[in-house]
Amino acid sequence: MDYRARFEALITAAADGIVVIDAAGLIQVYNTACEQLFGYPPRDVVGRSVKMLMSATDQEKYDAYLDSYRMTGQHGAVSPSLETVGQRKDGTTFPMHVSLGEGQSPDGNILVAIIRDITERQNAQRQTQELQHELLHVSRLSAMSEMSSALAHEVNQPLAAITNYLRAAQRTAVNINDPAIVKVREILEKTLAQTARAGQVIRRLRDFIEKGETNRVIENLNSVIDEAMGLALIGAGDTGVRPQMEFHPRAPNVLIDKIQIQQVVLNLVRNSIEAMQETETRDLTVRTMIEGDFAQVTVMDTGPGLHPDVAGRLFQPFTTTKGAGMGIGLSISKRIIESHGGRMWATPNLEAGVSFHFNIPLSV
Ligand code: ADP
Repeated sequence: MDYRARFEALITAAADGIVVIDAAGLIQVYNTACEQLFGYPPRDVVGRSVKMLMSATDQEKYDAYLDSYRMTGQHGAVSPSLETVGQRKDGTTFPMHVSLGEGQSPDGNILVAIIRDITERQNAQRQTQELQHELLHVSRLSAMSEMSSALAHEVNQPLAAITNYLRAAQRTAVNINDPAIVKVREILEKTLAQTARAGQVIRRLRDFIEKGETNRVIENLNSVIDEAMGLALIGAGDTGVRPQMEFHPRAPNVLIDKIQIQQVVLNLVRNSIEAMQETETRDLTVRTMIEGDFAQVTVMDTGPGLHPDVAGRLFQPFTTTKGAGMGIGLSISKRIIESHGGRMWATPNLEAGVSFHFNIPLSV
């Protein structure tokens, strides 16, 4: 096989699209993979401007680049790799990654472009971002409902006391016909009505928060946890944590609101990662198990363990040892698990650190 035949076989067999253009931007080589990417057969493109493979915006940029190349004879800032948009024969576009290399041929300068369709990668990225966004949203929403619920609870007590005092004042002023006292009775009556209204508003708020909106579907707990771990570990690269997942081989099926359960896992994993910043060994183990009629999840770390100040009231709102902590992550998590018919608890580890566990009834 001569050199040229070998070269052609290589180009044809390549999984990535390969386009070679000459100094004038005319297509010289267009391989089989390109046919699949762009939808044109080679005879429609070879000898024509490479612009036909670009989206409208890229065509403009390319024109500007060619002008500058003609004036200076320099390729200038041709970046060796870029993400851009390709255009198919039918006019549709797709995101592509292009690696560029300059070279020489007997006829002058050439530019070799290796092209890969990155639609799937971008979709996966978008899905991850959407999920993260949704989790953040749920977490903000849960924080808000937790606070409103605590607030409603706190405000209810003084409201009940106000109502009692008002009734007592009414009783004291009853049967006194002094015009000023009659006026006071009227005012007391109106105040009572308004206090009752405030109580209703708070009751409605609590009902709303407690019922909440959930979206329960039968899910495979292993994949739900796996996905949540992926998200929790994004950005945990430089924390020195060594994650390990031990999944029960009989992937447990559970009826859950996936986003809420992932929120719980995210809270537990983030707490563990944060706690382990204080210790030398940073092993994080996430395990799924089946215990009787329940699927159980354990998040175990090798951190410093629970601070004695918080150990007894870990799941109460506003319990925190962190300067910037709100102390509501665990109370929200426990509520989510309980609303799924499960339990949440923590145990100290034998060697070091703490394990958080929760369980959810298995779905049959
Ligand atoms: P926050 O993280 O805002 O403090 P949380 O409710 O998530 O709120 O946690 C409450 C407290 O529980 C933390 O401040 C911390 O003291 C303790 N805690 C939670 N997880 C761990 C852990 N893995 N190791 C040690 N302490 C923990």
